[in-house]
Amino acid sequence: MLSNKKEELMRWSDDDQKKFKSAFGTTDENARRTIFDRVNKEIEYNDSLNIDSFDKTNENIYAKIEGWKDHGKIHLGEKFWSNSKNDGSESTAGVLSHEISHIYNIGPTQDHFPDYNHGKDIYYKENSHLLANKRPDLALKHADSFEYYLEDR
Ligand SMILES: [Zn+2]
Repeated sequence: MLSNKKEELMRWSDDDQKKFKSAFGTTDENARRTIFDRVNKEIEYNDSLNIDSFDKTNENIYAKIEGWKDHGKIHLGEKFWSNSKNDGSESTAGVLSHEISHIYNIGPTQDHFPDYNHGKDIYYKENSHLLANKRPDLALKHADSFEYYLEDR
């Protein structure tokens, strides 16, 4: 998933740019570079993951990350085990990439912004695309926008 996007970001064809634009609302060079850097950092980070990087939680969530300032533990919730698929939206790889993008040195991405949606979390594809249309500057820092970009093959 990540290496596929890395290729798209380097190739940067019309189709690649179209996917990028629907996720982030822009195709400017700084935006491309921001996401390219993040994808590369995630690829590198994934090499450091091992069984101790994960934990199970009974909360009804996909996942959350703890210790986002450094190497955080990823807690996988009920939805991760019951809803996540191998491909498409809310895929296992997408959910993990979402959580990892919260890490300070990698994004850091956020789920909410003080000056948008009354500071409430912005989740799921429709809301993420709306954010991209209205605020590309925030979409570039938004975790679900990044996840749906990665999942858009
Ligand atoms: Zn999140």
